[in-house]
Amino acid sequence: MAGNRTFTMIKPGAVRNGHIGAILQHINAGGFKIVAMKYTQLSAQKAGEFYAVHKERPFYGELVEFMSSGPIVAAILEKDNAVEDFRTLIGATNPAEAAEGTIRAKYATSIGENAVHGSDSDENAAIEGSFHFAGTEMF
Ligand code: ADP
Repeated sequence: MAGNRTFTMIKPGAVRNGHIGAILQHINAGGFKIVAMKYTQLSAQKAGEFYAVHKERPFYGELVEFMSSGPIVAAILEKDNAVEDFRTLIGATNPAEAAEGTIRAKYATSIGENAVHGSDSDENAAIEGSFHFAGTEMF
């Protein structure tokens, strides 16, 4: 059975471009409840750990630099079938391929600076949520 929680970050580019409010509105309108949220900045080390799975990819250095370049909004979201439904709401990794009306189609500027993160499995949603939040910060 699909889980009911996923993890997201509004990435530094979308924060810099003033899209926090619009993206949170889009998330709420999509039926997701916020169960944890913080405004924070990742160190390069923390960003590197978060994206360790991509260590061998050519864009890893650029990704770590970007993700630690300014504040982010990190959040845990709740909804039935959360992981899959959130991936649908945000659209494809490359905004040029993201379906119309999705968060990435509206707010991403490139494949690297693609506005938001969304977990790709229930297992990773739990790992990523715990990476950012203590149990006492989840409601
Ligand atoms: P997603 O975030 O959609 O799950 P991936 O897990 O494949 O996508 O990649 C993680 C992140 O790495 C992407 O969200 C994006 O910021 C960055 N990224 C992925 N592919 C590229 C690429 N070809 N060039 C630059 N950055 C990329």
